[in-house]
Amino acid sequence: MTEIFYKICPNCNYFCRTVEDNKFCPECGTRLLEHCPQCGSSIDFPYIRFCGKCGARLRNNGEDLKQIFSSAKDE
Ligand SMILES: [Zn+2]
Ligand SMILES: [Zn+2]
Repeated sequence: MTEIFYKICPNCNYFCRTVEDNKFCPECGTRLLEHCPQCGSSIDFPYIRFCGKCGARLRNNGEDLKQIFSSAKDE
């Protein structure tokens, strides 16, 4: 079973697979996170906001993601 892991931009919604070479976000230039900086867990969910293992915050702007997830329902 092959697990797919992701690198994420902590500053915007960008992500890519760890097999890709990017070290920096092509959208905003922030260095991509490949592991949780607090516990070193791999990132297996591209829209992650908090580390599932230790709860560390991995992304600054949760609001945009929240909008994506809740875009189906109206406020
Ligand atoms: Zn970015
Ligand atoms: Zn962690």
